[in-house]
Amino acid sequence: MVTQTSLKTSRSEEIFAAAQKLMPGGVSSPVRAFKSVGGNPIVFDRVSGAYVWDVDGNQYIDYVGSWGPAICGHAHPEVLAALHEALDKGTSFGAPCALENVLAEMVIDAVPSVEMVRFVNSGTEACMAVLRLMRAFTGREKVIKFSGCYHGHADMFLVQAGSGVATLGLPDSPGVPKSVTASTLTAPYNDLEAVKALFAENPGEIAGVILEPVVGNSGFIPPDAGFLEGLRLITRENNALLVFDEVMTGFRIAYGGAQEKFGVTPDLTTMGKVIGGGLPVGAYGGRKDIMSMVAPAGPMYQAGTLSGNPLAMTAGIKTLELLQKPGTYEQLDRITKKLAEGMLNIAKETGHAACGGSISAMFGFFFTSGPVHNYEDAKKSDLAKFGRFHRAMLERGIYLAPSQFEAGFTSLAHTDEDIEKTLAAAREVMASL
Ligand SMILES: *Cc1c(COP(=O)(O)O)cnc(C)c1O
Repeated sequence: MVTQTSLKTSRSEEIFAAAQKLMPGGVSSPVRAFKSVGGNPIVFDRVSGAYVWDVDGNQYIDYVGSWGPAICGHAHPEVLAALHEALDKGTSFGAPCALENVLAEMVIDAVPSVEMVRFVNSGTEACMAVLRLMRAFTGREKVIKFSGCYHGHADMFLVQAGSGVATLGLPDSPGVPKSVTASTLTAPYNDLEAVKALFAENPGEIAGVILEPVVGNSGFIPPDAGFLEGLRLITRENNALLVFDEVMTGFRIAYGGAQEKFGVTPDLTTMGKVIGGGLPVGAYGGRKDIMSMVAPAGPMYQAGTLSGNPLAMTAGIKTLELLQKPGTYEQLDRITKKLAEGMLNIAKETGHAACGGSISAMFGFFFTSGPVHNYEDAKKSDLAKFGRFHRAMLERGIYLAPSQFEAGFTSLAHTDEDIEKTLAAAREVMASL
């Protein structure tokens, strides 16, 4: 039996009960509702550094980081100071703003594939736009995605979509017309033969391949050796585009994203999360000849009332500046490895089948002996056990993503002591599971 700790959650329960009458499921985004791990979600009051505080006054070490943006730690004082200053100049311009140039230049300098960039307001928007651009540039309609990869909630990507869709066990979503997803082809992740077969079956019809270069939305799944290189080759041979969805991995796996880390340059890249520094930002970019098709430079229409928003640009710029400091990614890698390896060792010592790993500030852990090469493998995890693990960790002040199918995130604010406390809690919990 798990030792019961005295986590007081009455205020969270009260607010969540009221929220359920006001908003579908009581949340603004599905995975927040804790449906797959059981129990009710914790309602946050404030965040700072590696910690979050709930409305009942409990403090947690946080490994969700607002689902990715908080790589420098929550509410970093330098980001807040820059925002305070920007705020006095107004919240939205709807006109060109010099800060857009600054962030654009930073992104272009950092991300190997990006020669030009367009800012939007979310990762979903970036992926929607990039799909339109893939089709506009190639004059082809079909695209290949991988099962368990999430590219936002636009219709054409809600096929084997991982993340919340996987968490809630929805095969798909009602309301998505068959005609829209008919041109979305899916293959298992890390399966080059399946991709080759799709190209062979659809000659001259596939605009490109989009993927998470390191998967975070079916849990943490790195690419097998040669997988990204293989996709680069196959897409080139077929005059199709290769698109890395780096909404999660961008500026997290390495400053230049997974494409820098693995040395494979796609034609187009989508970004989000970290580049907004906690404000709503997405972006897509890539080869100049392709990006020149985007309106008003070219005919592919895409627009946004709040895009390039000065506050969002400010938070992004300051966050990237903090990440540029020497030793940042070495520190993230070291601390995250300590956590991921520690968890696996504890699982082994306490007799639980488990596998997982980490790259830089992204980690994952499955309750299955593995190995996990794709979503199909990830589904073999013991989800009931993960649910009990999640709750017991929460009771010990450790806030993990409330799903087996989500990667975990660390930040520059996480200390060795935080990791040690987390591992001590994991040891106690696993011994009693
Ligand atoms: C989070 C995420 C998205 C969607 O971004 P939102 O800002 O939530 O719309 C798209 N792709 C990947 C890989 C993501 O992790």
